[in-house]
Amino acid sequence: MRVALFGGTFDPIHRGHLAIAAAAADRFRLDTVLFAPTGRQPLKVDPSVAGFGDRLEMAALACRGDARFAASEIDAPHPDGAPNFTVDTLAEMARQQSGATIFNLVGADSFHDLARWREPERLLKLAEWIVVSRPGHTLADPEGFPLTDAQRARIHLLDEVQEHVSATALRQRLREGDACRELLPAPVAEFIQSRGLYR
Ligand code: ATP
Repeated sequence: MRVALFGGTFDPIHRGHLAIAAAAADRFRLDTVLFAPTGRQPLKVDPSVAGFGDRLEMAALACRGDARFAASEIDAPHPDGAPNFTVDTLAEMARQQSGATIFNLVGADSFHDLARWREPERLLKLAEWIVVSRPGHTLADPEGFPLTDAQRARIHLLDEVQEHVSATALRQRLREGDACRELLPAPVAEFIQSRGLYR
């Protein structure tokens, strides 16, 4: 089994996220991509707008379109409100799926900040990494974190994806009353409208 963790705020999940995951699954023959909304993202100053339950439900709706995709509660909020660290999530995945090859899927902007993540060396040991290009960001080594040859060998770059969509811009448009149907999977757009999210 080849399983990727795709963590993120997913506030909301959008077509860009799905395109990235599909491209990674095709190229790296992934059996499963686990979309795991993060309870509390340690590096984001602003808290998420939608609650964890809504973000998880939107991820589940979006995953219906591809048999390789599944939504996961592995990064659910901690009862004490502590941030969710990917190093803990990947360690838990390795424990739950012993024998599987584990990947961590991220956009170029997230990878650029690797030095700020908790235990970056261990993160690169726990999983192979798939780093996807993102418009406006360079697909390059993390800032202030020189990679060894052994680490580099576990990092796979996917540079043919150009998804010009960001959740921040989407939320702004939703706030202004635009349903953004071209950027959202149809059941997610419906869910947002029916719950009145992001207004
Ligand atoms: P925001 O625009 O608010 O920062 P986001 O979509 O970047 O939102 P997340 O939902 O946390 O934030 O993203 C989850 C993961 O998907 C991250 O690794 C991010 O780098 C990646 N990602 C998101 N959008 C794109 C995109 N358009 N192209 C490539 N990677 C992306």
